[in-house]
Amino acid sequence: MHGTFSENDISHVVEADKAHVWHHLSQHKPYETSDPRIIVEGKGMRVWDQHGREFLDAVSGGVWTVNVGYGRERIANAVRDQLIKLNYFAGSAGSIPGALFSEKLIEKMPGMKRVYYTNSGSEANEKAFKMVRQLAHKKFGGKKYKVLYRERDYHGTTIGALSAGGQDERNAQYGPFAPGFVRVPHCLEYRAFEQDGAPKENYGVWAADQIEKVILAEGPDTVGSICLEPVTAGGGVITPPDGYWERVQEICAKYGVLIHIDEVVCGVGRTGTWFGYQHYGIKPDMVTMAKGVASGYAAIACLVTTEDVFDPFKDNAEDPLNYFRDISTFGGCTAGPAAALENLAIIEEENLLENTTAMGERMMDNLNALMDKHKVIGEVRGKGLFLGAELVADRDTRQPAAEKMVAAVVGDCSAQGVIIGMTNRSIPGKNNTLCFSPALISTKDDIDQITGAVDKALTKVFG
Ligand code: PMP
Repeated sequence: MHGTFSENDISHVVEADKAHVWHHLSQHKPYETSDPRIIVEGKGMRVWDQHGREFLDAVSGGVWTVNVGYGRERIANAVRDQLIKLNYFAGSAGSIPGALFSEKLIEKMPGMKRVYYTNSGSEANEKAFKMVRQLAHKKFGGKKYKVLYRERDYHGTTIGALSAGGQDERNAQYGPFAPGFVRVPHCLEYRAFEQDGAPKENYGVWAADQIEKVILAEGPDTVGSICLEPVTAGGGVITPPDGYWERVQEICAKYGVLIHIDEVVCGVGRTGTWFGYQHYGIKPDMVTMAKGVASGYAAIACLVTTEDVFDPFKDNAEDPLNYFRDISTFGGCTAGPAAALENLAIIEEENLLENTTAMGERMMDNLNALMDKHKVIGEVRGKGLFLGAELVADRDTRQPAAEKMVAAVVGDCSAQGVIIGMTNRSIPGKNNTLCFSPALISTKDDIDQITGAVDKALTKVFG
């Protein structure tokens, strides 16, 4: 390990953690007899834990965030310089890095125009939902306020965002939810056989048509927007089937439904384009992003809109309610956009979009090759360096592999020094997809090390 902590220091940290920290997504009983993992240091693609053990991180910081890798001094230096110059000023004032990052970001998003800063993906999505409601009041007598969301998609952890949450296990025990959010079916072709009436041909168009049915049932004059992940992440690494997005766009245009793309995971290079939606020719009205914006070097998220979404908030300046009456205290932190500017520059200068596409293809090839050997892999899917392998007990029935065994594969990879993930807490009993999202700086050797560990783990767990 590169670290400077002594054994004594570390055991104090572990005790303090066990005594006081309430870990995310964790059942704490096991910590009565074992220690939590504490990640002490990171460099490039690798991290070290409290015992000095090295891991190749194939999930970019656990939840697909550290796109440019660990230990980037130029980001740290830019943040340091900015903090010394001006750390914070909020309210209606702007900042130098805020203005410059917005300009750079909009260059990557033709058709988009305005950047609204926030702190997390959930919050960015909440802002988008609020905008839809306010637009409904401005333009449609308060009526066109409903937000459609898909089964299996996830948009955040706050009550509003959970109200748009398509993963039942995450929502269980947190109701009642906010009204005005309406669920539409997913578009996972591999599991289409579980959906009543799904055809064998043209599934993508059929899946999009299910959205139209919901719009008609709710009343098109009540539906303001639809919120969609371009590639569904935690819900099973779902890439859209052919014909899906074209039809979704037609339907939204027909009924005046705004398209809100949740790029919290896919945004800023993860899939090999700046944004996931750019693979599919989508013209969004609103885009939210978070994780990769500053690769976790600072907490920053954004909601980006077209000028058409923005304009109604600036007309009628005499109306005291006619502006977006919203603020995030820490939207005034300058560390976020300062880090984001450097992060973007790194992706450009190191050609990381190209690398992501090339390494994503290599990983996809490696995983597909594993399918010949391991019958437990039912399907491999994904885009760029965001890939998933769905594990099934039986390829014909596609019955999901037992969740405990999928977790055992993740555990065995970790024992081999490679951290991979599984779609977490999406559908009880069906969390059966291994997921991979290594940093965009991955090399061929890194990719081969990850898939090599998966190969060994599958043999060990499933034979
Ligand atoms: N949208 C998607 C697609 C996500 O995966 C997540 C988080 N995993 C969120 C929104 C919420 O982001 P945050 O945790 O930053 O609030």
